[in-house]
Amino acid sequence: KGMEGWRFTLQAPSYTAVMTYLDDAAVREEIWRANATRATSGKFDNRENLCRILQLRHEKAVLLGFRDFADFALADRMAKTGDRARDFLQELKRQTAAHFARENQGLRAFRGELDGNERLNPWDVGYYAEKQRQALYDFDEEALRPYFPLDRVVSGLFEITRRLFGVRVSEQDGAPVWDPRTRYYAIRDEDGALLGCFYADWFPRENKRGGAWMESLITGVDGAGGFQPHVGTVCGNLTPPVGGEPALLTHREVETIFHEFGHLLHHCLSRVELRTLAGTNVAWDFVELPSQIMENWCWEREALDLFARHYQTGEMVPDELYQKMKRARTYRGANSQMRQLGLGTVDFALHAGYSPEAEPDVVAYSRRILGEFSPVELPEEYAGIASFTHLFADPVGYAAGYYSYKWAEVLDADAFTQFRANGVFDRATGRRFREMVLSRGDGADPAELYRAFMGRDPDPAALMERLGLVDA
Ligand SMILES: [Zn+2]
Repeated sequence: KGMEGWRFTLQAPSYTAVMTYLDDAAVREEIWRANATRATSGKFDNRENLCRILQLRHEKAVLLGFRDFADFALADRMAKTGDRARDFLQELKRQTAAHFARENQGLRAFRGELDGNERLNPWDVGYYAEKQRQALYDFDEEALRPYFPLDRVVSGLFEITRRLFGVRVSEQDGAPVWDPRTRYYAIRDEDGALLGCFYADWFPRENKRGGAWMESLITGVDGAGGFQPHVGTVCGNLTPPVGGEPALLTHREVETIFHEFGHLLHHCLSRVELRTLAGTNVAWDFVELPSQIMENWCWEREALDLFARHYQTGEMVPDELYQKMKRARTYRGANSQMRQLGLGTVDFALHAGYSPEAEPDVVAYSRRILGEFSPVELPEEYAGIASFTHLFADPVGYAAGYYSYKWAEVLDADAFTQFRANGVFDRATGRRFREMVLSRGDGADPAELYRAFMGRDPDPAALMERLGLVDA
């Protein structure tokens, strides 16, 4: 920008790096405060807009015969009512509270040992947490990359899919593609019947949006000429190959491939007569079950040994590295959970029960609630709600829907216990999941589909264990 020095912004990659690594606490504080007060002054002051949006949403829900916007939004979701989803968050909070207190006490003590000061401000938490993480785990995620060359990861994923769901994936030549690195595949059932085809487009390009996603292009149904196959695409922005070496992925990128492929299976294994109810056209708090459950295989030794091999030596992930990766996964598990629970709780507080007439200061109201979930006291000026785009940037978006993140995590961790119990490659369990979840789309109430697979309602115990939130 024609000036000397460094330029920091409030965009996530810059902000997160500052909060995690910048040694000068005064600069961290200044940037934290700038971020915490976004959209609360001048012509970008959002506070009145928030109240107006909440009021109109409430009016709309009441006109349609609902008690509040939360009940309106959840009528078609697995949770069904705002009260049920709110109770769900409350219960997780109750189970997490003691672990949360312990983690925060541990971090204060860690800082105390480091520089004789146990006090943590909001702009200190990320910084000292990173130092504590390094001290405790000494785990460098980059060390895993050589074990995850893209082609091996993808063929391992296809092998896992074959064992579990009985479908074969094979690459097809000759299909026209929009980028030479895009691959085209067919998915066939055990008897050879074509179920669907898909494109895989994994690398970044100038004209491509960020993130990773699955898109359904054609939804197949039974027609006069027999079953008409599905077509879909999985896309991402993974580390591309460099200098004649294969693309070497981070573990998080491996999870991303498994995740998007889970959405693709939900689409391609669908056998629902009505297109609008097929595949991933399901309730919002259910749609991430097929995708997130696939990520579990990226953490299982047996599954990793199928495909995680050093690209030069062919060696499997050494046990020491595997154990480190597992331990680092649960680091500050209670804090990450409490953060999500806080955002979900404030979402319901605003969309069920909040009245701008009774409490005109929406920022103070939200801060009071979020404060219960914060590892440190939130200063007066904290106004995170004013820039919480999940709730306010779309007509619905995640409004009364933020709980879905946790809800889906509970479902995927819980459902995976069946595979744990019966074997992570157990064919019968895989077939049942295909039959009762993957093939059914929105053809039945998701709560019923879940019960059909599990034999009971969801239980958060498995998620608590995965986050390391169990008493040893
Ligand atoms: Zn997803």
